[in-house]
Amino acid sequence: MLSREQRRSLCLAGLFHDVGKFKQRAEFPEDRGLTHGEIGYRWLQEHYGETLVSLGAKNHHAADEDVWSVNDFLVLYEADNCSASERHTVYDKAKDASASWQRDLPLACVFSRVRNPHEDVPKTVPPPAYWALPRFQKGTVGWHPPQTAEGKNTGPMYRDLWEKFALEFQAVKSLSNQFNVDVVLHLLEKYTGAIPSMTLRVKGADDRESYRKHPDVSLFDHLKTTAAFALCLADFCLEKHGDDWTRRPLKEEITGAASWDDKAECPFLLVGGDLSGVQRFLYTITSKGALKALKGRSFFLELFLEHAVDALLEQLGLFRCNVVFTGGGHFYLVAPNTSATEKVVADVAQRLNRYLFDDFNGALELFVRAVPFRKADLKDVTTVWQRLSEELEEAKKRKGEAFLAELLGDPKDPDPDCYTDKCQVCGREDRPLKNLSIGETTLPVCEPCRDQYFLGHLLQQASRKGDYPVIYRWDKEPEELRREEYVRIENRWYQPAGGFFREKDEDPEDSPEAVFHLNDWDLTHYRHPGSRPLFAGIYLPPEDAPRDLESMAERGFGIPRIAVMRMDVDRLGRIFSLGLPEGERTFSLTAALSRQLCLFFKYHINGILEGANGYPEKTRLADRPDTPRMAVVVYSGGDDLFLIGHWLDVLEATLDVQKAFAAFTANPFITVSAGMAVGGAHEPVYRLAEAAGDAEALAKGERREGTKTVPGRQALTLLGNHAFPWKDPKRPDVAKVLEALEHLRPFTAVNDRSLKTRPHGLSKGFYYRLLELVRRQRRDGVWVLPKLAHLFGRTRVDGEMEGDWIKLKNYIFSSKADGWRHVEAALLILLMMMREGGREK
Ligand SMILES: [Zn+2]
Repeated sequence: MLSREQRRSLCLAGLFHDVGKFKQRAEFPEDRGLTHGEIGYRWLQEHYGETLVSLGAKNHHAADEDVWSVNDFLVLYEADNCSASERHTVYDKAKDASASWQRDLPLACVFSRVRNPHEDVPKTVPPPAYWALPRFQKGTVGWHPPQTAEGKNTGPMYRDLWEKFALEFQAVKSLSNQFNVDVVLHLLEKYTGAIPSMTLRVKGADDRESYRKHPDVSLFDHLKTTAAFALCLADFCLEKHGDDWTRRPLKEEITGAASWDDKAECPFLLVGGDLSGVQRFLYTITSKGALKALKGRSFFLELFLEHAVDALLEQLGLFRCNVVFTGGGHFYLVAPNTSATEKVVADVAQRLNRYLFDDFNGALELFVRAVPFRKADLKDVTTVWQRLSEELEEAKKRKGEAFLAELLGDPKDPDPDCYTDKCQVCGREDRPLKNLSIGETTLPVCEPCRDQYFLGHLLQQASRKGDYPVIYRWDKEPEELRREEYVRIENRWYQPAGGFFREKDEDPEDSPEAVFHLNDWDLTHYRHPGSRPLFAGIYLPPEDAPRDLESMAERGFGIPRIAVMRMDVDRLGRIFSLGLPEGERTFSLTAALSRQLCLFFKYHINGILEGANGYPEKTRLADRPDTPRMAVVVYSGGDDLFLIGHWLDVLEATLDVQKAFAAFTANPFITVSAGMAVGGAHEPVYRLAEAAGDAEALAKGERREGTKTVPGRQALTLLGNHAFPWKDPKRPDVAKVLEALEHLRPFTAVNDRSLKTRPHGLSKGFYYRLLELVRRQRRDGVWVLPKLAHLFGRTRVDGEMEGDWIKLKNYIFSSKADGWRHVEAALLILLMMMREGGREK
C-alpha cells in the first residue's frame, strides 16, 4: 500500500489535474499558446513545487512525454479516462453536422437529462437548462438556479472567477491547508461546480440532438471522480503487481485495452451503507423538550453517518473524494476492489454495530455491503447500483443476526439505578441513570439519551451564537470540558460550538483533531489543520424567536397549532435509472445528480427557510407580517425533508420549498410530494409525525377526487387530509387554493397576530356558513347553489370592499361544483388565520 503521504499527493494530483482548463478559459496573456496541461502545471508548480501534484497536470494525456514511464502518471491518465470514458459529447462524423471547441460554452444542467419519470417508459425530455458561472454573496455560494436561455461564460467572467479562486487558494495556503484534501475539495466545488469539464460544441442533426451532446459534467465532478478512481486503481494494481510497481511501468496492467473488456477484472467497489431503525429511533423521545430531543436525535444520526464514513475512509486510506453521497440514513463510496477493502468493510461494520448495539439496545443497525464493478460498467452504472441495493435489502432481512445470542440470552441484570426506575426516554434498565433537566423538570435517563438531548441543545445554541457554527471532533475525551458540552459517538467526542477562530499560541495538545464547518463556504474560516465542511439542514428561528413548540404555537400567526410536514422526491429510483437515457446512465452523471440533490436538501434548504439574500422571497399568505420562520428542520438530506413548527410557517415554508425545488431542477417532471398534519403543541410528536407520514402517503397514492380516480404524486396534502396536485390546470390544485384565499381575504385585515374582520365587511359567521355549504356539496353532492345564492343575497359589504365583493361573488358562482374542494381548503386556512393566538385551550 502507498504511504499516507503518497496517497494524499495522488489524490491532490487527481483533483488538480485539469485545473489548467479553468485558468485557460480566463485567457491571461501569460498563458497564450500554452496547453491546459502546461498552464495547470505552471500554476501548481508555484504552490506545490516539482511534485506529483504539479507534474500530474502535464502528464495525464497519452501524448504527454512522461506518462508511459511512471506508474503514478499512468494511474492518473487511466483515472482521467475512466472519469471521461462516459462522455456522450463525442462527435459522430456520420450523424453530426459539426463540432468545434468553444470556450464560452455554459454547463448543461444535469437535471435536464432526466426524462419524465412519471411515464411508464420515460421518454419526454424536459426543456434545456444551463448553469451560469457562480456568483458569490459575501464569499458564500448563494442561490443560482439554472436558466433556460443558453448564456455565455465569457473570458472576463472566467478571469474574475479565477482571480477569486486564486486569492482564496492563497488564503488556504497561508493557513497551511493546501494539503488538506477536504479543504481543497470544498474550494474546487465552490469554483468549478458550475463550469463544464469540456467545451466541445457538437451540432447534431437537430436542436434536440445538439443539446443531448452539450457538455453536462462539471469540472468539479470530473476532478473529484478522477481523484477517486486514481486512488482505487493504484491500490488495485499494487495488490496485484506489488513488486513490479516500483520496478517498471505497468502500462498494459493499468491502461491496457483488455482492462476495458466486458469480462475484465473489477478494479472498483461500490460500497453502500444503510442505517436501519431510523424512524423508530427518531420518535422515541419524551414530550418534554420534544423539539431539542428530536433535533438532537436526527442530528446524531447525521453525525453517526459521517463518523461511519470517516471510519471507513481512514482504514481504507481514502479521502472524501471517494464519497459519492451521504444523507437520509445512507452513504455510498467508491473503493478499490482489493482483499484489504473487503476486510476493512467487514471489520468497521462490525465495530460500529457493536457500539450501536451497546448504546441503543439493537434499535439501530448499520448494514454495509459492497459490489465490484469494472471499467466497462462506468458507461451504465444502473445495474451496479441495483445490485448494491438488492444486497442491502437482503442484508436487512437478517437484522439483529449478529447479536442474536445476546438478544436471546438471559436478560441482563438491571443497573442498580434501575431497581426502582428506568430511562424515561427509551425505557432501558441496564445502564446507570443520569439526571436530565428540562426547564423545571428533571428526568432520569440513560447516557445515550442524555447525550442526544444535549446535542439538540448544543446545536441550537451554536447556530444561534453566530453565522458559522462548527463541530469539534476530539479523538480522546476532552476532560477540560463540562460533560454536557459534548457527546460521544463510539470512540470520538463531538462538540458543537459557535465558531472556530484559532488563537496563534493555542496549545495543540488542547486542540481538537478536526473541526467541521457547518454550511460554510468561506475557506478563510478553515483555520484548523483538520478543518472540513459539513452540510446540514440546521435552520432555526433566530435568537429572540420562540425556542420550543409551545411558544411557537402561541406566538405564531392565527390559531395556536403546530404542524409537521414530510416531503420527498417522487420516483427517485426511476430518476436515477430509467429516467436517464440508455447509454447515458454514467457514473459521473448519477454522481452529479446525487451531489445536486444533496446541495438542495442539506444546504439550500437553510437559505430557503431563512429567506436569505438572493433566495426567492418567502411566501406570506394574506400579506401577514414578515417574521422569521417559526419552524425547525428536523431532518433534511438525501431526497427528503421533515419540518416541524407553527402550522402557518410550516405551510408557507412547504410552498417555498416546492417552488424553490422546481426552480432548482428546472425540470417540470422532477417533482416532490408532501404531507402536512396539524395538532396541538402538547400532542406527542411521534403521533404528528405519523399523521404527516399518512398525509404524505395520501399525496403519493392514487386518490378519489369527487367521482374520479386521479393519479398520485406531485401533490401536497394540506392540513391532514386535503390532497391537491401542485399544478394541474384541469383540477383543483394548490395554486387554485391560494387563488381562492386571495378572493376570500380582502374583507379581513391583518392584526398583530391574526386576521380580523373589517367593519362592514364579512363576518366570521359568513365564512363558517360558506364553509358548511361547500362541505355539504363535496360530501353529499347536494346541489347547494340556491342556498349559496341565498347566503350571498342577504350579505352586504360597504364602500371600498364593494369591488372585491363582486369579484368574490363571480368567483364563487363560476366555480364548478367539483372545483369547490379548493374553496373549502382556502376557507379552512383563512379561518385558522382568523383565530386569535394566545394560550392553547
Ligand atoms: Zn435511554
